[in-house]
Amino acid sequence: MLTRDEVFSQFVSYFPQADRALFDRACAVSENAHRHQKTPDGRDYLQHSLEVASILARLKVDQTTILVGILHDLLDTPDASPAEIEKLFGAEVLQLIKTGHKISNIPYRQKNRQQVESFRKMFVAMARDLRVVLVYLADRLSDMRAIQHCSQTRKEAYSRETLEVYAPLANRLGISWLKAELEDLSLRVLEPEKFAALTRRITTHKEERGGYINKVGEQIRKLLADNQLTGDVTGRFKHFYSVYRKMERTGVDLDEIYDLIAFRVLVDSVRECYEVLGLIHATWKPISSRFKDYIAMPKPNRYQSLHTTVIGPFGERMEVQIRTHQMHNIAEEGVAAHWKYKEGGPVPVVGRDDQRFSWLRQVMEWQQEVSDHAAEESAVIDLFPEEVYVFTPQGEVKELPRGASPVDFAYAIHTDVGSHCVGARINGKLSPLKTELKNGDIVEVMTAANQTPRKDWLAFVKTSKARNKIRQWVKAEQREKSIHIGRELLEKSLRKRQTSLKRSLTSGLLEQAATELGYRTTDDLFAAVGYGKTSPGQVVSHVVPRDETPAVAERDGSEGESKASRRSTQSAILIGGIDNVMVRFAHCCNPLPGEPVTGFITRGRGLTVHTIDCFQVQTSDPERRIDVQWDMQRKTVRPVKVRVICDDQKGMLVGISGAISHADANIVSATVHARGDKKGTNLFVIDVENLEHLNRVIREIKKVKGVTRVERLRN
Ligand code: MN
Repeated sequence: MLTRDEVFSQFVSYFPQADRALFDRACAVSENAHRHQKTPDGRDYLQHSLEVASILARLKVDQTTILVGILHDLLDTPDASPAEIEKLFGAEVLQLIKTGHKISNIPYRQKNRQQVESFRKMFVAMARDLRVVLVYLADRLSDMRAIQHCSQTRKEAYSRETLEVYAPLANRLGISWLKAELEDLSLRVLEPEKFAALTRRITTHKEERGGYINKVGEQIRKLLADNQLTGDVTGRFKHFYSVYRKMERTGVDLDEIYDLIAFRVLVDSVRECYEVLGLIHATWKPISSRFKDYIAMPKPNRYQSLHTTVIGPFGERMEVQIRTHQMHNIAEEGVAAHWKYKEGGPVPVVGRDDQRFSWLRQVMEWQQEVSDHAAEESAVIDLFPEEVYVFTPQGEVKELPRGASPVDFAYAIHTDVGSHCVGARINGKLSPLKTELKNGDIVEVMTAANQTPRKDWLAFVKTSKARNKIRQWVKAEQREKSIHIGRELLEKSLRKRQTSLKRSLTSGLLEQAATELGYRTTDDLFAAVGYGKTSPGQVVSHVVPRDETPAVAERDGSEGESKASRRSTQSAILIGGIDNVMVRFAHCCNPLPGEPVTGFITRGRGLTVHTIDCFQVQTSDPERRIDVQWDMQRKTVRPVKVRVICDDQKGMLVGISGAISHADANIVSATVHARGDKKGTNLFVIDVENLEHLNRVIREIKKVKGVTRVERLRN
């Protein structure tokens, strides 16, 4: 219950010349006029009038506005007399009440954004005098505080209107507390469940959070005192609607909203604001993207303050606002405060001097809603252009180079986390592992036990730790593969000598062979065979001396063929950057250097290289595939079959051979068939260096007169 005395003392506190008799007269008139009435939601009218006056007093409005606040509903009463109002309180008061009354009869129907905007403009245009708007806002706040007593339909319509028209209006006028309270009261009606959830969340840990506010507040105060600064430090919960909006905007769940609390430091001068900012940043790590300098760049509604978010003493994101007392008053009282400081006392917030009130009209440019956001964007100052600061879900800060990815972040936490990461949640949203992290991102890495580092991560990681660890792993993995290949090759060779790998191992002969060949372990030996550094034959000759066991008599043709093939090409393939790998080239696709290839481990035959699109590979077990590349540094030749169809006439073979030589290629063999249709089919095996060389050869052959078709045969 508010009393007249309370409200008047509020008024007189900033306006010593306040007229108590006039104030009491207004209260009496209001009480009398409404004596048989209750407000639509069942409140006592005088209480409502006093509450409106009290809200206006908080805005430090002039006396006229206070009187209008008390009398604002008077024209709704049956026996209201405009003449009497004018006689008792003056023409100005009557005019303001009339305007307000007229506006309150405009039906508001929520439609689209454009219409909401238009409504706001119309509202202000009709009000003309800003004081009407202030009374309106105060009236609305008083009604919203009692909204729970209304019917559901009225509650919702009223709340929506408040959220769409009055809260933005309060924001325009720079009255932050009024805006916040209107928003929260509306939210409570429009989203009761979400509001309740937010309330629960704050009240559940209220004591803990209260303790937190006290502790951190004390630390900030000590920080100021240690540096000979004096300032008012307060901590508070941010208003619900802003938290709700953030949740809606980012799609992040409630649990992930860290900054429910904000601290405020009020000092005497702008210089001190920046000093305090420096101290805060020196003590706690700032999230640079959250730093906003509204002192250098005030908001369109004249709001000035420094905003920063730091990682607080308990690893929590902590927002700190730093401003002067004067700036704070402007933030609290908005336009009214501005004039008070200009004039040195409460003055009409709108007068008739166009020059003096020009900035106010700017404030009234409602359509600036959008450009408002743009201004906020440009106020962001990047303090650390080289680095990016991101956070663990626990609020631990990780400093990473610009462009770093969740993989870098994962390795920064722990090698195991990096090696097993499969995905990332950035600010609560699933994101690809190669996503570029931004300042202030909260990153959560998902791991899986069976995940291993991937070579393609090397394409986007930025930290040397991640790069080294991935490379290390890839190398170790290649060694594993080489050991596997080596064992396969040796097994095959040993079987030809009537023994086996297992037997050679148990007999200790293989270990002995390893030592003799200069390897520490048998695994090293297998790896060397897999790499192609040592041939299986060499090893076999150590294990099974040739004179002791007769070699198997029959040798399959492919062995002889592949020997030749190996001699010329064993250095042409790289496995994971390791050169000198001994391989065999698949007959099915006969790959040439320059063609995309893949390796395939054939049981008993070691590693075979196929073209990547070879049908054999496509249909084979992917487990047995290995990434291989051509070693383009090494010059090698590979035989390739080319079929040439041409006119069956004399000198064709000479011409074609000449063309092949002209393209710097050697003919290994040539067969010529005459066909019945006066056409000849010539089959050449040509040694070429690579795909590009082959294409050159084919082009040369095609130039030969009488040649109709040239094609490469895969086998
Ligand atoms: Mn009212």
